[in-house]
Amino acid sequence: MDKVVYMDNNATTRVAPEVLEVMTPYFSELYGNPSSMHTFGGQVGRSIDTAREQVASLLGCDPSEIVFTSCGTESDSTAIFSGLRANPDKRHVVSSRVEHPAVKNLCENLPARTSTSYRTTMLKVSGDGLIDFDEYLEALNDDTAIVSIMWANNETGVVYPIPEMAKAAKERGIMFHTDAVQAVGKIPINLNQLDIDFLSMSGHKLHAPKGVGILYVRRGTPFAPFMAGGHQEHGRRAGTENVASIVGLGKACELAAQKMAEENSRVKALRDKLENGLLSRIPRSILNGNKEQRLPNTSNISFEFVEGEAILLHMNRYNICASSGSACTSGSLEPSHVLRAMGVPFTAAHGSIRFSLSVYNTEEEVDFVLDKMPAIIAELRELSPFWPGA
Ligand code: PLP
Repeated sequence: MDKVVYMDNNATTRVAPEVLEVMTPYFSELYGNPSSMHTFGGQVGRSIDTAREQVASLLGCDPSEIVFTSCGTESDSTAIFSGLRANPDKRHVVSSRVEHPAVKNLCENLPARTSTSYRTTMLKVSGDGLIDFDEYLEALNDDTAIVSIMWANNETGVVYPIPEMAKAAKERGIMFHTDAVQAVGKIPINLNQLDIDFLSMSGHKLHAPKGVGILYVRRGTPFAPFMAGGHQEHGRRAGTENVASIVGLGKACELAAQKMAEENSRVKALRDKLENGLLSRIPRSILNGNKEQRLPNTSNISFEFVEGEAILLHMNRYNICASSGSACTSGSLEPSHVLRAMGVPFTAAHGSIRFSLSVYNTEEEVDFVLDKMPAIIAELRELSPFWPGA
């Protein structure tokens, strides 16, 4: 196959043609500054309002609760620091061991970043990546300022019971943030009915461009801006707006709402065909993460006794794109912190590959991958000094 077979959509997605189309005028004729007093700038400002409505409609919230940011990482930091500022007498944060580095590295290093003696509980996960709800409840106490738990894991696709977790936090008067970067557009979210204070999302995971994100801030939730500066975003996020990308993100949200059913039927069926085919054709291959409580597009499979990086290189010969661990941590030879937290043995964690599909994948592509993978793994195992045989 000459064309790229792209199965790395949890790393980033292609910009949808419809999204690119609505963005293009903002690089040419519609270049006004939305904060300007003149009509030329004002019309650009109105496009941002429209995008805000499109995002709010996908998330089931009020447009006034949406703040545009530069990325998911910025949204995560803004939410967590807001929660700490709003609770100056509290010194405890609850998160999990499988968070994306955007949350994990922040929570684990709060004392150094804030010069304050914060204590963080990073919740354990089970072998299939789930959090024990009783352990979660036990972790919450009077000193807890904020909880930050991801809605769906970027490496395994495991989905956490965020509505129930947020409710429990609310009942105890604790603020709740969720990193929903991988969940938005893949599973239904209706924030109006939930007890979530902050939710992060990122444009480039749902067919909008890189460099634009969202922070949902529930009406009435105390909020502290991350950056000092102008009055953009009603004083909640300083800096001239990335208008083209914001407009694109609005359109991407509209498309995501339309394609959610396809994501959960056709894309899920493709994922299942790929997964079942790989597990049945390749000996000593293991699915990582809970099979049921999972995003419809993600499959993380360990091929024991081979290196994930070597597998990716061989896949690359056929233009097949996937990930070993998370794209943000590849480059390090450490096995993924998510699989380690799940207790996946070393020999399996090193050979894990994440396939993440999107509405642009086809059955022909799945068949192509199923055709190539068994030989790739067999070839690498022949070279592996650790391979004990099937
Ligand atoms: N959170 C999760 C779960 C992610 O998967 C990612 C990106 O991979 C991020 C946060 C960071 O988002 P961004 O790349 O927009 O900063």
